Amino acid sequence: MYDSDFFNPRYSRQELFYGIGYEGQEMISESRVLILGMGALGTHIADALCRAGVGYIRIVDRDYVELSNLQRQCLFDEEDALNCTPKAVAAKEKLLKINSSVEIESHVTDFNPHNAVEFCTGVHLVMDATDNFPARFLLNDVCLELGTTWIYGAALGSLGMSMVIIPGETPCYNCLVDGPPPPGLVPTCDTAGVLAPAIMATASVQVMEALKILSGEKEKISPFLTTMDLWENIINQYRIRPREDCPSCSRNLRGYLKGDDYLKTTKLCGNQSFQVTSKSEGEIDLEDMAQKLGRLGKVKKNPYLIAFSPDDKRTITVFKEGRALIRGVSTEEEALSLYSQFIGA
Ligand SMILES: [Zn+2]
Repeated sequence: MYDSDFFNPRYSRQELFYGIGYEGQEMISESRVLILGMGALGTHIADALCRAGVGYIRIVDRDYVELSNLQRQCLFDEEDALNCTPKAVAAKEKLLKINSSVEIESHVTDFNPHNAVEFCTGVHLVMDATDNFPARFLLNDVCLELGTTWIYGAALGSLGMSMVIIPGETPCYNCLVDGPPPPGLVPTCDTAGVLAPAIMATASVQVMEALKILSGEKEKISPFLTTMDLWENIINQYRIRPREDCPSCSRNLRGYLKGDDYLKTTKLCGNQSFQVTSKSEGEIDLEDMAQKLGRLGKVKKNPYLIAFSPDDKRTITVFKEGRALIRGVSTEEEALSLYSQFIGA
C-alpha cells in the first residue's frame, strides 16, 4: 500500500514529463471522458486513459465479446468470449482492476439520436471508437451542438487515421467526409480484416491528443488529419479545409441528431427478426457483396437479394436498395451490430 500523502509514485513518470508536470496530472485526474465504442480502438484508449489517471470514464457499447475480438481488443479474455459478456461490462471490470481510483460508468446500449445528447453531456472530451459512419455523423452533430471536443479515430486493414475536432475552431467530421457512403460500399473490419498494430497506432495518436487536451496544453494539439499505413510504410498528415456549405458546422442543420440518414430498426413479427433500413442513397452491388461475404460464411444469391449466414444461427438478407432482414438475433442492438459488421453502415 502506498501512502498518498507522502509520495504517490503511480503517475510519477507522467509528472516528470515536461509537458504535463504535477499540475497537468491534477487536471487529468479531474477530467471526465466519454469513450464511444469498446471494440479494438475503445479498449486500447480506455486502457491508456485509465492508466493515465483520468478521473471519470464513461463507456458505451452495444456488443458482446466474441473469440474473433481477442486478436486486437486488449481488455478481454477467453472467458469473456465464452460467456458472451457485454463489452462495456467486461471492460469496466478489467479497468477497475487496472486503476481502482478511476470512476467508470458503463452502458450496454446502442448510441442513437435518442440518447446521444445525454451520453455526451457532462464530459470534457469524447473519444471516437465507433465502427460505423452513422454513429460518427451523429457524434459530430451532438458535439457541435454541445461545443464538446472529440477525437476521431478509425482503422481498417493496416490503415489508421485520426483527427481532433474542436467545434468552432477546426473543420468538423462532415467537412472531412461528405455524408455516409451507401451501405456495402466501404469494407469493414469484418470483411477486410484489421491488424492490431493499425489499431494501436491509431489509439496512440488519439490518446496523445487527449493527454494534451486534458492537461491544458491546447497549443500542442495537432491541426492535421494523421493517416498511417505501417504495412505499406506510409505516414501522412493532411490539413483539412472547412467546407463552406458543410451541413453540420456551417449550416448547423444537425440532421443526424434529428434522426435523418440514420439506420432504422423495426422489430418484425416472427421469431427474432428485425428489419434494418438505411437512408443513405445508392444501390448495393450484390455481386461484389456476395463475393466478399462468401469468404466469411454461407451466401445465397438471386438478382434481388443475397442471404448471408455467418453461422448456423443468424442470417442477414440484404436487398438491392440496402434494406436488410436480420434473423436469429434477440435484440435491436444485436441486429444493428450485425448489419454494421457485415454490410457496413
Ligand atoms: Zn463541417
